[in-house]
Amino acid sequence: MAIHILSESLASRIAAGEVIERPASVVKELVENSLDAGASRIDVTVEGGGLRLIRVVDNGRGIPPGEIALAFERFATSKISEDSDLNDIRSMGFRGEALPSIASVAEVDTVSRQPESDAGVRYEIRFGDSDPPSPAGAPAGTTVSVRHLFRNVPARLKFMASPASESTRIHEVVAGLALARPEVAFALSVDGKDRLSTPGGGEPRDVIAALYGAQVAAAMIPLAPDGDSPFSASGLVCSPSIARGNRRYITIAVNGRLVQSRRISFAIEQAYHGYLPERHFPIAAVYISAPFEDIDVNVHPAKAEVRFLREQLVFSTVQQTVRAALAELAPVHRVAMPGQRAAAGAGSSGERRLFEEASWPNLENVANGSNGPDGPDGLNGVAGSYSNGVAVDDGSGHGEEAGPSSTHRNVLPVLRVIGQSQDTYIIAEGPDGIYLIDQHAAHERVLYERVTRQFADRSAESQPLLEPETIDLSPAHFTELTAHGEDLVAAGFTVEPFGDRSVLLRAVPAMLATGGRSGRAALIGLLDGVAEGRQGGWWAERMLSTIACHSAIRAGRTVANDEAKALIRQLEACEQPRTCPHGRPTMIHLAAGMLEREFGRR
Ligand code: ADP
Ligand code: MG
Repeated sequence: MAIHILSESLASRIAAGEVIERPASVVKELVENSLDAGASRIDVTVEGGGLRLIRVVDNGRGIPPGEIALAFERFATSKISEDSDLNDIRSMGFRGEALPSIASVAEVDTVSRQPESDAGVRYEIRFGDSDPPSPAGAPAGTTVSVRHLFRNVPARLKFMASPASESTRIHEVVAGLALARPEVAFALSVDGKDRLSTPGGGEPRDVIAALYGAQVAAAMIPLAPDGDSPFSASGLVCSPSIARGNRRYITIAVNGRLVQSRRISFAIEQAYHGYLPERHFPIAAVYISAPFEDIDVNVHPAKAEVRFLREQLVFSTVQQTVRAALAELAPVHRVAMPGQRAAAGAGSSGERRLFEEASWPNLENVANGSNGPDGPDGLNGVAGSYSNGVAVDDGSGHGEEAGPSSTHRNVLPVLRVIGQSQDTYIIAEGPDGIYLIDQHAAHERVLYERVTRQFADRSAESQPLLEPETIDLSPAHFTELTAHGEDLVAAGFTVEPFGDRSVLLRAVPAMLATGGRSGRAALIGLLDGVAEGRQGGWWAERMLSTIACHSAIRAGRTVANDEAKALIRQLEACEQPRTCPHGRPTMIHLAAGMLEREFGRR
């Protein structure tokens, strides 16, 4: 075949493939157009997975009758001009490709009226062929109906999933856009059923409530953006008690644009390290604001990704902001009231059920109550029964110097040890009920913070072994270990290569030795854990939590009352007393109110 230039219609069908991959991409492009048109309400209707019908109705500024045909030409846009700076794009669209792309692979019926005009206009274009625009009565705004998507591209149709799963994708896109733009009211109807509706008041929490339910919305923690940085992250992240099994509940918007970013998603996940068990992911809506000249939105045909000039800065801003919010506000895991448990919904597995309910106001009462003279009855007696009183003073000190912004401090209420159960749980009484503390998890937390501090200021104590131990390693383990020699030394290990497959263990962290634990088991445990595939930056943290885990008292050991008291005192002094380094709870709270209710006293 001789070289020739493709016809306009074939060229645009090929180009359409980049922008319009599936029905959900049509929805995204149309909704973004509505957002660019300043709409405050956007209604989306789909039928047959979007292949039969996609309709987007907005109340935006409309399209002038004289321009509507032009809007469907390739590279026709009202959003940028010849002398625009491509590094300063504030609109969602700018490529002028969406409408012509859609119209080349579907029947598109557009009706529009500008609010200031009496006359509306209708424009129909079927698989690239159009009739001239005609006058039409219409509400202010624009309605675009797309029918028989991909009917002229059988190859593309073959790649469509079932209508049900295309509908799910559409649902996800609309949910994401609604969350990215809480100031706009969204509604989605799928095959005649209302699937989603957001109020549009500008509150992310309301959108979360509409998408994931009131329980989740109530357990979301606000981010406190750092106003001084050119980059800031605001929004909501979930309490560790309600994490999910996948990343789909992480929504990221950059300057109002819904984007996908593995990096930023990872920054958010990383902030949860130590709060969540592995393979658990947070629910989050994170709004990043960045200087426009710092982001390149023109790197992806569907504009799903953006590139940052200073990616590392964005990454650390997000991570630190989320981390700070968690440290400040993460609640004690509480046992749900029976009624609340039912309301938590069908999805809650027995394992998660206990951690469902998160209640900071009560925690706040507890924390404040322990300071004030008018705390709950009996509290002072409890506090007074501690001879050293250190924990009480700690608590009060925090409470007083902290302003209203930190009413939900991450401190524990004062706890009085009652005993131990099953050689595993310490039973304690607090001002607001009973606490069950997992002795291993609690001790692990205490030791983890200690070893982390020592590691940071290079003060880890090391205990030489009387008999150095040889440890035979797999090649992968050997490489891993020798690559992190410095970290190991800083933590108190002395390990020397011994041949090319073995190492000689000469000293172990004193903590391990005190616990009477084997340095070999800790090292192997560490290497196995690392092999599970953590990122490089995690190595030291992984090492420290392994040391803590291997040194901590185990479940199944009888703990004397004094020992239990000492442990609770140490836990109270921790920065994150409520979770072990792996993110499991250290304690469960049986609230006084729940006990009263359960015993029918109220
Ligand atoms: P882009 O969004 O990149 O400009 P599109 O093909 O999506 O390209 O749209 C072309 C033009 O049509 C837009 O620039 C805009 O002027 C107009 N337009 C499209 N949808 C709407 C709408 N819902 N309301 C008002 N104007 C619209
Ligand atoms: Mg567009």
